[in-house]
This record gives sequence, structure tokens and C-alpha cells, in this order.
Amino acid sequence: MNKIPNSLHASDIAHSMHPYTNMRLHEEQGPMIITRGEGVHVYDSEGKEYIEGLAGLWSVAVGFSQPRLVEAAAKQMAELPYYHTFAHKAHEPSIRLAEKLAEMTPEGMDRVFFTNSGSEANDTVIKMVWFYNNALGRPEKKKFLARNKAYHGITIASGSLTGLPANHKDFDLPAIPVTHLTCPHYWKWAEDGETEAEFTARLLKEAEDTILAEGPETIAGFIGEPVMGAGGVMTPPEGYWPGIRALCDKYDILLVSDEVINGFGRCGTPFGCEKYGFTPDIMVTSKQLTSSYMPLAAIIVNDKVYNTIADHTAKLGTFGHGFTGSGHPVACAVGLENLKIIEEQDLMGNAARLEAKFQEGLRKFADHPLVGEVRGVGLIGGIEMAKDKEKRLSFEPAGKVAPQVVKFCAEEGLILRAVYETVALCPPLIVTEEDIDQILARLGRALDRGWEWVQAEGLV
Ligand code: PMP
Repeated sequence: MNKIPNSLHASDIAHSMHPYTNMRLHEEQGPMIITRGEGVHVYDSEGKEYIEGLAGLWSVAVGFSQPRLVEAAAKQMAELPYYHTFAHKAHEPSIRLAEKLAEMTPEGMDRVFFTNSGSEANDTVIKMVWFYNNALGRPEKKKFLARNKAYHGITIASGSLTGLPANHKDFDLPAIPVTHLTCPHYWKWAEDGETEAEFTARLLKEAEDTILAEGPETIAGFIGEPVMGAGGVMTPPEGYWPGIRALCDKYDILLVSDEVINGFGRCGTPFGCEKYGFTPDIMVTSKQLTSSYMPLAAIIVNDKVYNTIADHTAKLGTFGHGFTGSGHPVACAVGLENLKIIEEQDLMGNAARLEAKFQEGLRKFADHPLVGEVRGVGLIGGIEMAKDKEKRLSFEPAGKVAPQVVKFCAEEGLILRAVYETVALCPPLIVTEEDIDQILARLGRALDRGWEWVQAEGLV
């Protein structure tokens, strides 16, 4: 090994391979090293303060300095730092957290399986759905329906459900049978003159036509994020989710609500499915479950799914699936304390109360010359950059303008994330009105600078 460079900056360039990063560009510009957090703020190695407007990766609900989570982790570490949950073993943190999730989720969703990440959770869901259909003697019922622009993870199976080109290209995905349907984003994908109701009807017809063309006996699951997150913060059109639920009922398809971003109050309701009026068969949660202080994800299934799987394990002798870290006691102890804080501080109520201020504040940018559309719900929002708002045309080359605006945001003291042509916002659930004013002010300055930049670059 080469001598380790003595600055963190140089060492990072020399040794770290970063996820979701242009590695050659990283060698040139190096890392932004974050050293500490305080409430909604984080600080970099130069001491500069930022509002974390994406709550890390859509996840740090309680902010970056919650001492109760530190205490919960330390207490559990001291008492029982690790034990597994294989083969009838159990420990209090995973038991209590499963009980809590059963209580919080819709009626009839009472059984919980833990994994370490959202991707592992969605891989587990795929295997559960396959296992379920094998248990029912329907080995051909294995295909999934997902949507373009969906994000469900990056492992081989969950990455196949994801509907984003960057996650497929040159990774040889999709690798499981999945069909991606039209992204339910009215502004971008509606045909000229099509009303929202007509758009919904067209998408539901597309889903039904696909099921019939593939054969209902082959379609096992439909997976979707109630509000799509990492693909660009897209809220569904009116009537879409109840329509999808009805199709799943009609063709005996399991409906999976990927609540990894939506869950625990993000949309102003405890879960995204509640916001949009449907009850899934399976829910997937992570991120705000522990505020990302520890890696953890939880799959919650309804009685129908559980009983079919459970009966089959009785026949086979086991459910041959699980991770060393499934239900890790420290992660579960942190998750439990985190959910207690969310309840005691009424952070889901905070999201609902601040929704109007946040969303109306964002919509004031709708007339900005850089902006095509502003969208969002609760405390999640997206601002899509467009060269021509009326024609819904993006800037060219693609993927340049939103990252530049995000760069300006960072210079203004606001960390956000660019997802394709969209600047995404998803602040910690502990934000105050004053924090939102600050976010909007910093974002406004960054958009103005972005507009000057676009003109200087000759992109308009
Ligand atoms: N599902 C959704 C909706 C997500 O947003 C993400 C992560 N952004 C995942 C799954 C994957 O989670 P992880 O990164 O923990 O694997």
C-alpha cells in the first residue's frame, strides 16, 4: 500500500470509492467533509454551516444531534451489543420495535421482518412474493410491475425494480422479470391537452393492458413509492393509487408500498399510502425509522401474506432467508427511541402543520425563469428546471443545470440534492418556520445565480 496521505482530503481522494459519484471528477475536486451536526444543521471541515435540506439522504427526521438516540445506542451496546434473530432467537429491542410498527401501520398489517437497508428489504420482498406464490402452487406467478423513475434500491433484484437508467446501464440490469410502466407524473408525461383524470385513466389502462398481455397468472407484485422520491419527487395524479389497488385485487397481485422515504410523517400523514387512500399488502420502511442513526429497514406484511408464508415454512421446515444483522438490537433500540421522539415531539404533526408554509413557499418559485414545475406534499418537494416551461422541455445537455443550482445552494449554506433535472428538498421533520424561511431564502438566491449562470453558459 502507498503511504497514507496525512490530510483527510488527500486520503479520501487516494483511497475512497464513493457511491453515486463521478470518480474522476472526485479526484479533481475532492470531498466535502462533514464533521458534525446540530439540529437541522451540519458543518464542514472548514467550519461552514449548512442547513441539511435533504435530511442527509431523506432520512434524519429528528435532526443531527439527538442525545436520546445516542443514549439508546450506548445503553443497548452495554447491555447486549449483538444478538441475532435466527431460529427462534429473540431480544427485547426487535420484539418491541416490531410491536410498535404493527401498532403504527394500517389494520391487519401485523408482522415485521427486519433488514439492514432499503435495498435488502426490497430484495426480501421480492423473495417473499415468490415464496408466497410457490406456497400457493403458482410457480409461474413471479413477475413484477414497477414504474419508470422509481427508486427501490441498487442490489441486483431491488435495482431491477428501480426504473432509472443510471442504475441499469452497464450493470446488466434488470435481472429479474419486471415491466416498468409510465411514471405517474402529470406535468411531464401527460399528452398535450390531456386532463389529469384522463392521464390517470390512461395509466391505469396501461397497467391493466400490461397485466392482460403478460397474463395475470404471471404477475405477482406491483411495487411503488406513494410519492416518488429519488427519481425526482413526483406526486401521483388523483385516483391513481385507488385504481392500482383495484387492479391488484382484480388480478390477485400483491401491492407493495415502498415507504422508505414516505414513511413516518414525510407526506403529512404517518405513511404515504394513507395520504393517497390505499392499503398495501406489504410495506417497506427504513430511513426515518432510525433517522439513519443506525442502518435498519423493516418490512411489514398483512395477515394474508404472513399466513401463506408461515404455512409454507411449516411444510419446508424453515424460511431460508435472513441477514446476520436482521433486527440488530442496537439499530432496533435506536429505532424504537426515534419513533418515541417522533411521537412525543409530534413531528408527524409538525410536518402536517408546516406543509402549507413549505409548499406555498416553494411554489413562489414556479414563475422563476429557470423553473418548469414545483411539486411536493408534506415536507418533501421538488423544483424541476426547464428551458421551456410551456413545452416542458429540459435544458440541454441534460443533468447540468440542477447540479449547478445545488452547488450554488451549498455556497449559500443549504445542502440539497439534484436528481436528474430536479432539485429535491426533504428537510428534517424538526424544522421550524424560521428554518423554512432560511431554506427558501437560500434556495431563492441559488436559483437567481443559476439563472445568471445558464445565460452566461448560453444554455437558453
Ligand atoms: N426504496 C426507496 C423508496 C428509497 O428511496 C431507497 C433509498 N433512497 C431505497 C429503497 C433503498 O434504500 P437503501 O439505500 O437503504 O438500500
